[in-house]
Amino acid sequence: MTFLERVTKSAKSLGEGAKTIGGKAGDIVESTKLKFEVSKLEKEVENNIYALGNLVFMQFKEAADHEEEINRLLNTTKVLEEEIVKLSKEIEKLNPKPPVCPKCNEEYPPNAKYCMNCGEKLAQETPPAE
Ligand SMILES: [Zn+2]
Repeated sequence: MTFLERVTKSAKSLGEGAKTIGGKAGDIVESTKLKFEVSKLEKEVENNIYALGNLVFMQFKEAADHEEEINRLLNTTKVLEEEIVKLSKEIEKLNPKPPVCPKCNEEYPPNAKYCMNCGEKLAQETPPAE
């Protein structure tokens, strides 16, 4: 192998490595962004529910009609919750959860036969080839 070939080859594998790292970091950035978005939406839901409580109480106390505002808030909050569920699923896709023991809910490494916590026999996700 000539010097040039060696340099080119190592540069190539370096480039490929960087690409893999880039993809992984991209996922982390994406999942951090989504988590931030979810916490923002959760805060909004919290505020809406607080406002709803106030409106319901004001309606009761002052016998005023806040029905329209209450309905608007109820619908907005429902949409926000749906959005949170959607984003949470996206986050889960980016960070697949390790399998958990059906008996004690402890995480176990893939291909473990028995739970390290409670000794429960674990179902194999991929049956071993014979
Ligand atoms: Zn267990």
